[in-house]
Amino acid sequence: MPDHDQTEHLPFDKFREECGVFAVYGHPEAGNLAHLGLHALQHRGQESAGIAASDGKDVYCHKSMGHVADIFTAGVLNMLPGHMAIGHTRYSTAGDTAILNAQPFSVACNKGRIAVAHNGNITNAMELRRDLEDHGSIFQASSDTEVVLHLVAKSDQKTLESALREALLALEGAFSLVFLAADRVIVARDRHGFRPLAIGRMNLSSGPAYVFASETCAFDLIDAHYIGDVEPGEMVIAGPEGLTRQFYAPPGRNAQCVFEHVYFSRPDSIVFGRSVQASREKMGQMLSMEMPVAADVVVPIPDSGVAAALGYATASGIPFRHGLIRNHYIGRTFIEPSQAIRDFGVRLKLNPVRELLQGKSVVLVDDSLVRGTTSQKIVRMVRGAGAKEVHVRISCPPTVSPCFYGVDTPTKRELIAANQSIEEIRQFIDCDTLAYLSLENLHKAVADGDSKYCYACYTGKYPTELVNIDELMASRPNR
Ligand code: SF4
Repeated sequence: MPDHDQTEHLPFDKFREECGVFAVYGHPEAGNLAHLGLHALQHRGQESAGIAASDGKDVYCHKSMGHVADIFTAGVLNMLPGHMAIGHTRYSTAGDTAILNAQPFSVACNKGRIAVAHNGNITNAMELRRDLEDHGSIFQASSDTEVVLHLVAKSDQKTLESALREALLALEGAFSLVFLAADRVIVARDRHGFRPLAIGRMNLSSGPAYVFASETCAFDLIDAHYIGDVEPGEMVIAGPEGLTRQFYAPPGRNAQCVFEHVYFSRPDSIVFGRSVQASREKMGQMLSMEMPVAADVVVPIPDSGVAAALGYATASGIPFRHGLIRNHYIGRTFIEPSQAIRDFGVRLKLNPVRELLQGKSVVLVDDSLVRGTTSQKIVRMVRGAGAKEVHVRISCPPTVSPCFYGVDTPTKRELIAANQSIEEIRQFIDCDTLAYLSLENLHKAVADGDSKYCYACYTGKYPTELVNIDELMASRPNR
């Protein structure tokens, strides 16, 4: 198991986000803006990061393993000149974890020099790759993103835009893609809109600059204004002509990832046109109305359970307390010393505030429960701090199916809710009561009147046809 699993998987037993993308056109310090944007998107991938920039003549690229703050020194940023750039933070969802798979990918081909970065998972990448290899393409990495570049290079279309359109039409699955050519930035979103991609604008004295990012928290950092989203099936071009928008395909069945609102995205972001904080508070409120309990305090499992716990406390009238404190300063190299030191990994990251928990009946709110092992340790910790009763409330439905759209999830065998009843899970994590938000109320919490979201990890009903599902399972990292 790679290093990052030693720390980032413990104690937070979560689905793991994927990647973050950023792009900017029309700013004299585009490389620096991409650097700042990637800082804001660091939570979407901590394995590697990269930036490709262009000054209108050439494309310059730097990428490395590690965190954004460690990779981009002043010296590195000086080597990324120009008024346009794209950036990427990565946790691999397809391909192995080597530097070869770090993004952006940058190549020189018959359409000029181009770079690409991707958030999502192209579900037919293996078939496309086999076909391309049969026709002479040579791949350097195992990432699904490289397939896109080969499709563009092999296209008979004369312009980059036309070649891209043709390539995008061949792709299935989830993709929010950002491309950099010598004189323009092009971004696109898959027909179902699985992963987010927001558009922002900066008003400079020289004219507008345009930015694109997985989440709008990246805009706040650079003072850009959110003006909307790249629509499912849409390609947006920022170049010397300004901003051009066109649909490369008719939108498919909408399937925005609801887990972005449940857990992945930062609460200070607007994702799919909606405040993540507002969604999570609403989930907590609905959970309180659906699954009430008489208790003394509502305690979030930090950080991701905070907004839902606030909603639960507001709707129930039970006081909200930070009864668990998270230590954010744990190095990536920590290795859990021994199974014999019980709960060591959890205690390193979370510590109870005895004063707030002793003798209390506690509602413990978390945003998801995946394998259950961490929840068991946290319940034990809260009881150990003197809590009289522990009632666990999860602000989404039981997760019963893996994701194939750009999220690292355990196999079905490891998902506790896929194999055990709620009562069995309650017994396993050893709480007094356990309840989840219903699917119906999750719909309501994300204002899903038109059923725009993907809920496949709760229902097992995948919104696209998944050909070669065994291959897809095998291609996921660390499996
Ligand atoms: S399966 Fe779950 S995590 Fe994957 S896209 Fe759908 S809602 Fe998101």
